[in-house]
Amino acid sequence: MNIVLATRNKKKVEEMKRIFAGYDIRFLTLDSFPGCPDVEEDGKTFRANAVKKAVFIANFTGCAAIADDSGLEVSVLGGAPGVYSARYAGNDADDQKNVKKLLREMMTIQDDQRGARFVCCIAFALPDGKYKTFTGYAKGLIGRKKKGYNGFGYDPVFYPAGHARTFAEMADSEKDLLSHRGRAMRKLYNYIKDHM
Ligand code: IMP
Repeated sequence: MNIVLATRNKKKVEEMKRIFAGYDIRFLTLDSFPGCPDVEEDGKTFRANAVKKAVFIANFTGCAAIADDSGLEVSVLGGAPGVYSARYAGNDADDQKNVKKLLREMMTIQDDQRGARFVCCIAFALPDGKYKTFTGYAKGLIGRKKKGYNGFGYDPVFYPAGHARTFAEMADSEKDLLSHRGRAMRKLYNYIKDHM
C-alpha cells in the first residue's frame, strides 16, 4: 500500500517510518509531488489542521494520505503554545527561539506547576474524502534549562512523566514508546491492520 506523508519535516518522516518498520507500506513524501501546494494550518485545533491537510493531500495525489498536527500544551499558560507551537516566538520563530521564549515565560513558575503535555492528532484520509483521526498524548513537566541534543522542537525541555531525562536525552526508540506521536501512530497502525 502507498501512503503519502503530508509533511516536509524529515524528523517526522523518519519517526513514522521507524514506527511502521517491517510492515508492507510504502511511504511517499510530498517530495514525490512537487506541484503540491502547501496547506495552511489555520485551524483552531490539532484535529482540524490534521484533517484539512490529509483530505487535501489525498485528493490531490489520489493516494491515501497521513497528516499530523502536534504541539505542546502547558497547563499554567492556559494550554499555550498549543496549535501555535511552531510559531510561538513569532513569524520568524525556530526551535531555539520557541524554547527560549517558553523558558522565559515560565521562569517564575514553581516546580509543581510546570505540568504540560504534547498532543498529536493524526488524520488518515482516502482519495474519496473519507477520513479517520487518532490522537496521542505525552504528559510531563517543563524543565528550567535545555538538556540533550536528540529530537527537535521542545524536546530539550520536556521531561516525560516518571522520567528524569528529557525527550532530547533519549534514544529515538525510547522516545517513540512514550511520545504523543508514537501513541497516535500505534492507534493508526492498529486501525490500518484491522481495516485494510
Ligand atoms: P507541527 O505538528 O509540525 O505543526 O509542529 C508544531 C510544533 O510543535 C513544532 O514547533 C514542534 O517543535 C512542536 N512539536 C511537535 N511534536 C514535537 C515533539 O515530539 N517534540 C518536540 N516538539 C514537538
